Amino acid sequence: MDFSPSARAAELTGAVRDFIDGEIAPVEHDLHQRSARARRAGEPVSWRVPEEVRELQRRARDRGLWNLFADLSNVDYAPIAEATGWSFLAPYVFNCNAPDTGNMEVLEKYGTPEQRDRWLTPLLDGTIRSGFAMTEPAVASSDATNMQLTAVLDGDEVVLDGRKWWTTGVGHPDCRVLIVMGLTDPGAHRHARHSMVLVPIDTPGVKVERMLDTMGFLDEPFGHGEVSFTGARVPAANIIAGPGQAFAIAQGRLGPGRVHHAMRMIGLAERALHLACERGLARTAFGKPIMNLGGNRERVADARIAINATRLLIQHAAWKLDAGGPMAALSEVSQIKVAAPNVAQQVIDFAMQIHGGAGLSSDFPLASAWTAARAVRIADGPDEVHRGLIARLELADHGAAR
Ligand SMILES: Cc1cc2nc3c(=O)[nH]c(=O)nc-3n(C[C@H](O)[C@H](O)[C@H](O)COP(=O)(O)OP(=O)(O)OC[C@H]3O[C@@H](n4cnc5c(N)ncnc54)[C@H](O)[C@@H]3O)c2cc1C
Repeated sequence: MDFSPSARAAELTGAVRDFIDGEIAPVEHDLHQRSARARRAGEPVSWRVPEEVRELQRRARDRGLWNLFADLSNVDYAPIAEATGWSFLAPYVFNCNAPDTGNMEVLEKYGTPEQRDRWLTPLLDGTIRSGFAMTEPAVASSDATNMQLTAVLDGDEVVLDGRKWWTTGVGHPDCRVLIVMGLTDPGAHRHARHSMVLVPIDTPGVKVERMLDTMGFLDEPFGHGEVSFTGARVPAANIIAGPGQAFAIAQGRLGPGRVHHAMRMIGLAERALHLACERGLARTAFGKPIMNLGGNRERVADARIAINATRLLIQHAAWKLDAGGPMAALSEVSQIKVAAPNVAQQVIDFAMQIHGGAGLSSDFPLASAWTAARAVRIADGPDEVHRGLIARLELADHGAAR
């Protein structure tokens, strides 16, 4: 087993780190402060992308730091994803953010030449954005077989009726298309009932009903939305890989995306630990640096152990994905989906504690970092669902039935 990145990946990781430190971090700090001030002043949320962010995208692209997820192996992309986890903006600046990356992978793997021309090319170019609409307010969406929105064939069209929510990216001003999961054939096998359909956002009958906040953060400029579909008609040619293929596509889609998410969580945890160490050494209470009070040094050691162990777990999952594809790494991918956000949440929590009141304010990125880690414990399948899968595979080796 060799998790070491190739020479090219190592070089790109260095370039990504330098770009984040030198170019993104100052802009991000400024934007973070501006949006906190606007929130406090009760100003309406601006969903436009600030010009300085578009400029960062242009510069990143000029330096070849663009779409890196698309042409590197999972092992090679993992350290880059970790580096981008240090910044909220970086994945977007490098055109490597969810859900666009997963959607691009779906189109690359399952799209027809026409679907790729119309949607993949502009997504890779960064000129449009997309959303992935699976979760529904009316049903427990941890179980994707529950999805009720209908996607019914009518001649050479497919008609969508129903409601989705938590559609990430739908608030972006450049969002032009959603991949929507809908029920096509209720009589088929439970994993062959649903289809994935490309639905342009301006299709009559598609309406963004509202934007959702995540524990008070609006996640601008991408945003999560609730979207209704009322008799929305698109050509049947917009179904990806044919009717009833939603589960097959979902399985192929999620492995690499979970490696990206997990490694970004490691980056976020590293940033929190870095801030905790700086603050704990610089500030004094009761005659000592805060770091030397109570059990803080042990907490630093535990954070380092947890981060390093989880990084290795993720690298192992990435290596298995590269070697055998998503079906060969089912347990490993679910393991990292549980481990990474939980470790990040714990480390960020420690960093908040060591910052005292400052840690909960918008002067530091810790409160939003904690929220991001907390959200990943639910987004893309809650912890329990992934633990259930890990246990099922483990117990199957001992002859246990489902
Ligand atoms: C920030 C964020 C971004 C998201 N982005 C998207 C997106 O872009 N597109 C999209 O379609 N969805 C998105 N989601 C939605 C997310 O995928 C769902 O919230 C998630 O799959 C859970 O579905 P649910 O909310 O319906 O919870 P439910 O299915 O109602 O589950 C509620 C709880 O029940 C428990 N539970 C469920 N199953 C089990 C089990 N097998 N064993 C034990 N306990 C269990 C868990 O505690 C779970 O949290 C996003 C969510 C968040 C928070």
